[in-house]
Amino acid sequence: MFDNLTRRLSLTFNKLAGRTLLTESMLDDALAEIRIALLEADVSLAVVKKIISDVREKSIGQKIVEKTTPAETVAKIVYDELVELMGGADDGTAIDPRMIMLAGLQGSGKTTSAGKLALHYKNAGKKVLLASTDIYRPSAREQLQMLAEQAGVESLPIIENETIAEIVKRVKEFLIHNSEFLIIIDTAGRLQIDDDLMRELENLKRELSPDEILLAVDAMTGQESLNVARAFNERVSITGLVMTRADGDARGGGVLSTLVETGAPVKWIGVGEKIDALERFHADRAASRILGMGDVVSLVEKAQSVVSDDEARDTMKKMLSGEFDLNTMKWQIEKMKKMGSIGGLLKLIPGIGGMAAQLKDKVNDREIDKQLAILRGMTDAERKNPDIIFASRKERIARGSGVSVRDVDALIKKFGQMKSQMKALGTMPGFGNI
Ligand code: GDP
Repeated sequence: MFDNLTRRLSLTFNKLAGRTLLTESMLDDALAEIRIALLEADVSLAVVKKIISDVREKSIGQKIVEKTTPAETVAKIVYDELVELMGGADDGTAIDPRMIMLAGLQGSGKTTSAGKLALHYKNAGKKVLLASTDIYRPSAREQLQMLAEQAGVESLPIIENETIAEIVKRVKEFLIHNSEFLIIIDTAGRLQIDDDLMRELENLKRELSPDEILLAVDAMTGQESLNVARAFNERVSITGLVMTRADGDARGGGVLSTLVETGAPVKWIGVGEKIDALERFHADRAASRILGMGDVVSLVEKAQSVVSDDEARDTMKKMLSGEFDLNTMKWQIEKMKKMGSIGGLLKLIPGIGGMAAQLKDKVNDREIDKQLAILRGMTDAERKNPDIIFASRKERIARGSGVSVRDVDALIKKFGQMKSQMKALGTMPGFGNI
């Protein structure tokens, strides 16, 4: 989402790279470029002004420490500023809410996010009940019920022609008998802010006292989200934002401005339409990504969520001892795919920043899918020893996986190269004892 901003800022820092001294005019030039980059990313003027003046003040007072370059120093100051603006560094405390209420305009991704949150908390071992107070759109309540089924959580049965007060009463009754449940309330949206909607939310807040009120904002709406957030915040004091459609090509600045203005932190980001496409937002990690510094913590966490330490060590051992076969390659690709798209993963690697887009063209998801299809088309024995794959089998494999024989050959050749590289690495000092 912040791709363009990242590219622009990388260019600015590249210009400073190699300098040993930071003069005031160099700083002015860099700040002018950072200002344009932020404005282009749709950050509001007020917020841009604040960032620039904060960074200037901190940079001027900053002595360039030995061994750090001006580029690093300014990048660090901008990084600290972004982290602070986006809600502070992650302090690691896990919130354990009892009731979450979702609010937002129609189409902001509220209902979808309610379903995603339900799945998240269910996976974390919680019992969850989803309930909708949208009495105006029967389809919205049905959509929530379907999401509950998908997530494998409970949902408040739909009763037709019920009032909101009656729904609230049933939720309260449910809680009396099921106090261990986390309740997630999806509320009705409107096409725009109106007084009835706000009054309805105020009532719900008073009746149910949710400990978390999350506002769903669509990252694609840019700075418009600012007015929306301000209005909701004034009436029901939101505790955080769910930024939806962060997978789109929104420039991100609008949401950045929203959170600066409302002071409500972005707690979650929606990164796709599927029910598991929800991530926790960490200001420090997002700032790293924006500045093209990568996000190693997220990368490692993603890897850990699909591969155990033991599995990783065993594979590494196999690879270095030359035992690497196509079964291992298939396993690796499958795990990698579980971690998400290649483009998304590339952005997490430090130093790649602006280059991610170019690299993405070289290592793209389609290529990876092709390789996986070929590997899946082979038998276990063939993957152990590709030498036994003769021409007729190659044709079968190619046909079965929708590729050409040349593709199959290319994969086998690539595997041969990888294997010998790995073996060579395994004989180097320090690698034997992994
Ligand atoms: P509501 O009216 O606020 O409840 O909005 P919905 O939850 O019905 O979402 C509106 C549309 O946005 C649906 O088509 C969703 O699939 C889509 N959507 C919601 N969140 C995301 C997201 O994070 N990424 C993408 N790509 N689409 C989303």
